[in-house]
Amino acid sequence: MAECKPVENEITADTLVVGGGISGMTTAIETAEVGKNVILLEKNTSLGGRVAAMNQYFPKLCPPTCGVEINLKRIRSNSHIRVLTLAQIDKVTGSPGEYEVTITLKPRYVNEKCTACGDCEKVCEIKRDNDFNYGLDKTKAIYLPHLMAYPPRYVVDPEFAGDEGLKKCVEVCQYGAIELDMQPKTITAKVGAIVWATGWKPYDANNLDNLGFSKIDNVITNVMMERLASENGPTQGKIQRPSEGNEVKSVGFVQCAGSRDENHLPYCSAVCCLASMKQATYIREQYPEAEIHLFYIDVRSPGRMEDFYVKVQEDEKFHFHRGKVAKITEVPGSKNVILEAENTLTGEIVKTEVELAVLATGMVPNSADEPPPMETPLDDYGFIAPDPNTGVVGAGVANRPVDVAASVQDATGAALKAIIIGRRR
Ligand SMILES: Cc1cc2nc3c(=O)[nH]c(=O)nc-3n(C[C@H](O)[C@H](O)[C@H](O)COP(=O)(O)OP(=O)(O)OC[C@H]3O[C@@H](n4cnc5c(N)ncnc54)[C@H](O)[C@@H]3O)c2cc1C
Repeated sequence: MAECKPVENEITADTLVVGGGISGMTTAIETAEVGKNVILLEKNTSLGGRVAAMNQYFPKLCPPTCGVEINLKRIRSNSHIRVLTLAQIDKVTGSPGEYEVTITLKPRYVNEKCTACGDCEKVCEIKRDNDFNYGLDKTKAIYLPHLMAYPPRYVVDPEFAGDEGLKKCVEVCQYGAIELDMQPKTITAKVGAIVWATGWKPYDANNLDNLGFSKIDNVITNVMMERLASENGPTQGKIQRPSEGNEVKSVGFVQCAGSRDENHLPYCSAVCCLASMKQATYIREQYPEAEIHLFYIDVRSPGRMEDFYVKVQEDEKFHFHRGKVAKITEVPGSKNVILEAENTLTGEIVKTEVELAVLATGMVPNSADEPPPMETPLDDYGFIAPDPNTGVVGAGVANRPVDVAASVQDATGAALKAIIIGRRR
């Protein structure tokens, strides 16, 4: 696979897939498995996207290793797929059937000789915030992005590439894999079609002043909960209070934190209710006696996922409260939090004290802040709006908020559309 060798100045493919999450990986695999050549381009250090950072994913509650790892295996063994990581698209010219794309490959500072032995990490004394764990812990300045990372190769945080302290890492590497003077490289890709599978980021909970995120220790977001519960996360899977690391005896899930709210995200992200119910199962597994409260406007569990909703309702210590949480305050001393909500059926103001609050923030399309550098129809919220006339193809959450199963279906369709567009060549 092409990640293993230096990239030429000009490369060609039938389809360019932008974004290496579950949607982009699926589009690339489906395209390559019918014999077409694909470039799979990811801006981050490794493939996997947001799903790689989950603890488990519904409906089957399997760990990401079961879905992402199988796809990585199919990618690794297919010579029609070329993976570019740390890659950024600068410019797109041309038209459906014949695009020319200018790509910058950012330096990893670690070359293909890396065996991921970890000797460099052991001697490195510089630390950085771990973005994979949403800042809940730190990594060394030279680090393996995560256990499933593809390519399985170390990377240097660019902020520290010029730091004298990293010279020790160069000296200890017996393979000559660390190149601190590595430079960015610009290449051109000639492709017939482009699929935008650029996915999402969590809505910034700092915008929700009333809910105390980053001011109150024991208020976290749903994506942080995924990492807390994960064996390869910052606490090795132990769900504990950020304030002092204690066990958790009561948790409050705050649904629609910023969603369905015209001051924040006017739309529903479609997965947050199920994500919170899934996370309640993480809590229940570790704390059989914990009281779990979920505050909602209405619970959305479409299609077959209704079974999951019905199942969690059997848990006597899982309390559903109708009402949107308007305010979260901290209890001095105990560091517990009080969730204040109006019951929308009775009008009653309900105050519930819990040890940990989880804000169910929604998904914001990356294309809202960083639209594709070509004429692209976007809807009011920044999702890619399909338009057969422009030849622009989106896949997965780049198109709309969806779960993994729908992303995969969408991505398979995108592969076919791209093949048809590419044939205009
Ligand atoms: C808290 C939470 C829990 C969830 N749990 C579940 C669950 O249990 N089950 C389930 O089915 N779904 C779940 N989901 C939904 C799931 O995360 C999405 O369906 C899935 O991530 C969609 O994959 P994607 O590839 O479209 O996007 P992403 O996972 O966001 O991947 C997009 C990729 O594109 C890359 N990228 C972005 N912009 C660029 C660019 N300009 N150039 C190059 N690369 C770029 C990104 O770095 C990323 O790797 C959950 C969502 C949330 C918020």
